[in-house]
Amino acid sequence: MAPRKLKFWGWGYEDGLSPQVQKHVEFTMAERFGVNQWEKTPPPTIEEIQLQPSRLSLPQSLQHLCSVDPFERLSHTYGKSYRDVVRAFRRDFSNAPDIVAFPRTEGDLINLLEWCDGINAAAIIYGGGTSVVGGVEASIGDHYSGAVSIDLKYLNQVLEVDDISRAARIQGGIRGPAMESRLKEHGLSLRFYPQSFEFSTLGGWIATRAGGHFATLHTHIDDLVESLRVITPKGAVETRRLPGSGAGPSPDRLFIGSEGTLGIITEAWVRLQERPIYRTSSSVIFPDFQSGVKAVRKLSQSGLYPSNCRLLDAGEASDAGAGDGKSAVLMLGFESHDHLLDIWMLRALECCREYGGTYSQDAIKTSQKDSTARAGAVETWRNSFIQAPYLRDVMVGLGVIVETFETAITWNQFEEFHNGVMEAAQNAIREISGLNGWVTCRITHVYPDGPAPYYTVKALGKRGSELEQWDEIKSAVSEAIIRLGGTITHHHAVGRDHRPWYDQQRPQLYASALQSVKKTLDPNYILNPGVLID
Ligand SMILES: Cc1cc2nc3c(=O)[nH]c(=O)nc-3n(C[C@H](O)[C@H](O)[C@H](O)COP(=O)(O)OP(=O)(O)OC[C@H]3O[C@@H](n4cnc5c(N)ncnc54)[C@H](O)[C@@H]3O)c2cc1C
Repeated sequence: MAPRKLKFWGWGYEDGLSPQVQKHVEFTMAERFGVNQWEKTPPPTIEEIQLQPSRLSLPQSLQHLCSVDPFERLSHTYGKSYRDVVRAFRRDFSNAPDIVAFPRTEGDLINLLEWCDGINAAAIIYGGGTSVVGGVEASIGDHYSGAVSIDLKYLNQVLEVDDISRAARIQGGIRGPAMESRLKEHGLSLRFYPQSFEFSTLGGWIATRAGGHFATLHTHIDDLVESLRVITPKGAVETRRLPGSGAGPSPDRLFIGSEGTLGIITEAWVRLQERPIYRTSSSVIFPDFQSGVKAVRKLSQSGLYPSNCRLLDAGEASDAGAGDGKSAVLMLGFESHDHLLDIWMLRALECCREYGGTYSQDAIKTSQKDSTARAGAVETWRNSFIQAPYLRDVMVGLGVIVETFETAITWNQFEEFHNGVMEAAQNAIREISGLNGWVTCRITHVYPDGPAPYYTVKALGKRGSELEQWDEIKSAVSEAIIRLGGTITHHHAVGRDHRPWYDQQRPQLYASALQSVKKTLDPNYILNPGVLID
């Protein structure tokens, strides 16, 4: 069988979505926006794109590691944000890297960095390329002689498993499914499932402080990292494996979230878990979003720590096919490798009932050994969640603007914050851009001191002006998030797209300290220029 072909211009495989589902998207979007006939833009083909000739000439010693093949240069031009896909549909690949390198060993990586340093070329680290914040784009200005995208896909091994401490040493370029299938042989799992799991990498998760599927406790990859090995232009940094340490500021934490600006995470020891064999899940209906929010706050402070605790507002639930468009829906779940969960679920549902939550009585009895079964609305929502990025690409071809904003805020500020962000988004859609559209919200992660709300905007763009209109919406909502006390990102990272608001959020002296670290590790500023640090 021929291998499935990846898109160079969007999410996943070329055949990732059946023509029937594509038609269904066109139909539902036409109904929602009142469109009679779509003016569709077809996805780009390689032949249509005018690539700039590569500005760099490779030394003989590196030629076997590198490619200037158009498919590779195009595939490594962008990440997977809405803005990236729109520019791909416009056939604009003006920031394509000059060369794509595929190191197979740390030695290769060191040679590549030395060469980039020597010729003043920017080195952009590429994991799975699923960044949605411009993290892998060679948007480097004219200070550099060119750009090399360094793809880590061959650094993809599980090197060592410590069954006693339940940890593994794993290379940074491994993708989610390959890593999990190797850990499964040991009955272990990282149990870290971002929505981009299929195509993103361990190194990318660590470099961006990614958020996984756990809605409480271990929400971010940060807590799952035991130690790191990082290659910088000035040499290697390897931290000590420890279950915990109070020895000064943590060297791991310096690199976790460094987004390819301080060094290349080639290996990490990560903390594992036994694979869960008990699961229980339920959907709870609330008369309105605010009642659901109160229940979720109670759950977050109850010490129950559900693995899933995602609250969808009525619009979000309806878009996912998991609600009637009038009620908010909470997806609630627990999992364990060790014990039955009925009592946890029972208590969690009691908390929900206090705030008007209703649910099927069967939910309490669903804990089963070896069960992967999920209740109806939960399963529907999960399928729609996995398919969403493919659907987004279809919508871009129709001229629909689709953008998401993810943030976090403390409970005491949540109501004002949420109202302010919703209003900013609605105003930006209608008053600034004059568009037909809507905004929905779900809470993806919860902490005892606050939630992480995730907003989705959908609007019918004006053909040819979608990027400019996206820009207006992005700026208006991002400004509201910062003004109202939130973070510009809870888990998508800063990249290039969030820089203006990240710069407002971080303390000035901290920014200077980060600059000093950069000067020490990467004195010629070749690593991912423009991201995090100027
Ligand atoms: C459909 C979709 C769903 C998503 N869902 C989630 C989600 O649920 N949770 C979440 O947190 N994010 C999510 N994201 C965002 C993205 O998947 C994450 O940021 C992810 O961690 C990026 O991993 P990657 O391997 O693709 O990294 P890339 O996109 O290749 O790189 C991201 C950044 O990290 C740097 N980098 C990558 N690898 C390394 C390395 N080994 N060493 C040093 N720097 C490196 C790059 O230079 C870049 O700055 C989603 C994105 C999409 C498109």
